[in-house]
Amino acid sequence: MSDSHPSMRSATSYQPVERRKVYAQIAEQLIGQIGSRRLKPGDVLPPERELTQTFQVGRSSIREALRMLESQGVIAPANGGAFVVAGAANPLESSLRLLFALDEEAGMHDLFELRRIVECEAAALAAERHAEADLAAMDASIDEMADSLTPSGDADRFIEADLRFHLAVAAATGNRLVFHTMQAVRDVLRRALTTVYHLPQSPESAVVEHRGLRSAIATGDASRAREEMRLHLARVESDVQKGVLHG
Ligand SMILES: [Zn+2]
Repeated sequence: MSDSHPSMRSATSYQPVERRKVYAQIAEQLIGQIGSRRLKPGDVLPPERELTQTFQVGRSSIREALRMLESQGVIAPANGGAFVVAGAANPLESSLRLLFALDEEAGMHDLFELRRIVECEAAALAAERHAEADLAAMDASIDEMADSLTPSGDADRFIEADLRFHLAVAAATGNRLVFHTMQAVRDVLRRALTTVYHLPQSPESAVVEHRGLRSAIATGDASRAREEMRLHLARVESDVQKGVLHG
């Protein structure tokens, strides 16, 4: 046999399958416990010694698993070398922030385009699926925005309330991933909105637009909700650009 079978020749490009890393399997099991709520935000993880016995592995694998979960923002260090399950564990949030820092070509326009893609459809779904509690959450955030529009205006308070409104719309879709995505976007967006707050009439317009959105959602008008969101986001994006130029 001078010539090997073609499939054997191509087999040389395959690599032997490596046994899954022990620490990755431990991390996966801990994530499973958090996902199923057997471990809840704020719960202290068992001490290293106990985890070593539970998983029947060495200390270094446990430490590696904990380091990985910490860097992903799933757990946070607590007193005495212990770890607790992070509050709102949203790895998407830290990843999006990291992506923004690493990818210099991803700019504000990309962020607003992502918002348009996600939030216009979210507004339409919110119109169809909202509960009374969602409308109450939207009202509370709009009231707080209006309240912080005093002459001695509080920009931080206004921006937090503005972002809470958008999260309330995302929550009203009932889609957990839409909600998590908006939470992640909120973090990157916070800085841009600070420039907008100081533009004349910009925060006032946001209050009016949020009221229009809220009423479209409350009356179950999906296409109007989608359109109100589109106009709102376009106006805010153009204000962000003005804010950057003037600021
Ligand atoms: Zn808004």
